[in-house]
Amino acid sequence: MDSIDPNMKQPRVGVTHLVESIEGLYAQAIKHSARIEIVTSSQPNSSPHMGTVTTFSSAFALARNLRDKYDLPVSVVVDLLDNAPGRYETIQGEQYQWMLKDVLDEGESKYQRYLRLYEDMLERIARISELDYTIRPYSSYALNSEFYRALWLMLREHQLFKSVTNPEGRGLHIRLPCPVCGSLEKDPPLSSIQRLGEDQFSLAVNCPIHGRSQQVLEPAVAAFLDTGTAPREIAKNYQLARQMQSDNSFVIMLDGMDWSGPWAADIGALGSDYLGLRQRDLPRKLYAPTLITADGAKLSKSLYVEGDRYHYLPEYVMNYGLLKNEAREAYVQAVLALATSWVQDPPLFYQPQAVERLLPLIKL
Ligand SMILES: [Zn+2]
Repeated sequence: MDSIDPNMKQPRVGVTHLVESIEGLYAQAIKHSARIEIVTSSQPNSSPHMGTVTTFSSAFALARNLRDKYDLPVSVVVDLLDNAPGRYETIQGEQYQWMLKDVLDEGESKYQRYLRLYEDMLERIARISELDYTIRPYSSYALNSEFYRALWLMLREHQLFKSVTNPEGRGLHIRLPCPVCGSLEKDPPLSSIQRLGEDQFSLAVNCPIHGRSQQVLEPAVAAFLDTGTAPREIAKNYQLARQMQSDNSFVIMLDGMDWSGPWAADIGALGSDYLGLRQRDLPRKLYAPTLITADGAKLSKSLYVEGDRYHYLPEYVMNYGLLKNEAREAYVQAVLALATSWVQDPPLFYQPQAVERLLPLIKL
């Protein structure tokens, strides 16, 4: 593998037939904006693996590129989903889950435990990039009035949004947690949503331990509701579209490549259209290269947790927490340098990257 030139020429794909730089697509819109914001996200349910480091590094590399090119303030927002599942349980045939922030592990929540590693990594990336960033936990974002408003509108048209966001499942994944233990029904029935009046709904949860609870939802009073990835994407589009309108910011959402294609088009964009958003009002979408292994499959955190599939890779590839301080610095620096080279050479950025080809470039 060492003999492969890491900078070998890549074929042009998709938009690289039209533009020489990633920002080439956005030049016109940026010209009329007051600031630029890159929004990325992650479920901090374990120590960060190389895919996470790559996605975050791509966000910062892109932000730095834009800052150097345009005379505008550029910031990075990292959405950390403290509501991501931290524990699952099936009780009497029903599947339940608990959020990372509510699952305790040796006296602290799983979210707090992994947050430290995420902060450690992000601090390093931000310092080297000389950029500001904000970590936004889902539990505070959920109370954003526009985000909540979008969830409320989806609940009002729950049949329609269920068909877009959960076509083969039972309900709409906008969920009320049990007020005592935070349990969530993985796929709550649509009957948990009750219309009380023109502008009022109630949402219910059946906790396997504490029984049934329900909450009345008013359009103007934000309440914490958990969301699955699909309704969250639509609500985030809605909130960011409103933000772009009100403060004239130009927003790019940057996530891993597995959220591109039909996910972005048939769930995110279609659902946003049903909420009344126009394509031109939506935040732009970019996708960091997926890391693949020699077998052509995505480098997967869940496959790593399940067994020894990656026994031939250095362990830090799947577990940032195993690295000592100096090695973390060298690792982050190397991945950020790679991401910077991809961002500056779009044919590299828009294609998957093979881990085995990248490792020789990371000297720890
Ligand atoms: Zn409960």
